[in-house]
Amino acid sequence: MAPPAILLVRFSSLGDVLLTTPLIRALRARHPDATLTALTKAAWAPLLSANPHLDQVVTIAPGDTLGGLARALRRGGFSHRLDLHGSVRSRMLRLLVPGAWQGYDARRRERRALIHARRDHYHPRVPVPERYFEAARELDVRPDGGPAELFTSPGAEARAEEWLATAGLDETAPLVALAPGAAHPTKRWPLTHWRALARALVERGMQVALVGHGGDRAAAAEVLASLDHGAASAAGQLDLQASGALLRRARVVVSNDSGPMHLAAAVGTPVVALFGPTVEQFGFFPYRARASVVERDLPCRPCSSKGGPRCPLGHHRCMTELLPEVVMARVREWLA
Ligand code: SF4
Repeated sequence: MAPPAILLVRFSSLGDVLLTTPLIRALRARHPDATLTALTKAAWAPLLSANPHLDQVVTIAPGDTLGGLARALRRGGFSHRLDLHGSVRSRMLRLLVPGAWQGYDARRRERRALIHARRDHYHPRVPVPERYFEAARELDVRPDGGPAELFTSPGAEARAEEWLATAGLDETAPLVALAPGAAHPTKRWPLTHWRALARALVERGMQVALVGHGGDRAAAAEVLASLDHGAASAAGQLDLQASGALLRRARVVVSNDSGPMHLAAAVGTPVVALFGPTVEQFGFFPYRARASVVERDLPCRPCSSKGGPRCPLGHHRCMTELLPEVVMARVREWLA
């Protein structure tokens, strides 16, 4: 029998794409001769481009049509098509690329019941990377117990090195990376807390690197403003691969529930993860990673699946009550 030719579709975003890698690894281990193709948005392709378990990464860029993409995929001769997204776009692609597709249950009903009726039907609690395995049920694969993974190219390692060499940090001191950004404001730890944590880290002899994308520059600058040494911002200065390489150089990463949290976990660096409006049941806690989750048990949690523009109750206790000294203690545990 011919080895399988497998297409995995996950268009976005950072964390979700990285969380497909345990499935990719398991497929390669179970089907060493298979052809594995991942389809994602061009912006997220660097998360998979150096992954040795994949044969190719197909991308869709702004301006590309789904029709053009579908024509190329129809020529791919895939024996298995895995929809790991379940979006309108992926469902349209399924129509345009005929054949048997398999998807997974994103647990949207459970999510609604928990948010709106406080009914917890997440039994058992299955992390998102393991839900993706449902789409591969015909391929006889199981999670191997390992984390998500990011493979970085030598060029990315060199870009991270170059940034470190010019950042003015003491390279002999432990490096702690802070990721103050998150797509939605309610997922963001207050900047006053980030400032207090950064100060405490530097006072205890650590060096601080602020990480994030271009949109996080202002937040990173605010955190830096209270420090005259021992900290530098890489926000918006490094591409995804180089950011991963920089996080690998850190001893610990502190992050909101956002992309950098998954990036840090995928390069094997311990993560202190700050969770506010979202909860473990949604499946996005750091997966099989060296990680500490800091959260408050509040009756208003969860109030949304992805965070929102403002706290519906006005107080934002889920994040403001995660105190810098508690986060600092978790960082020190990882450094011990
Ligand atoms: S404090 Fe409660 S209601 Fe406000 S954002 Fe956090 S979880 Fe939502």
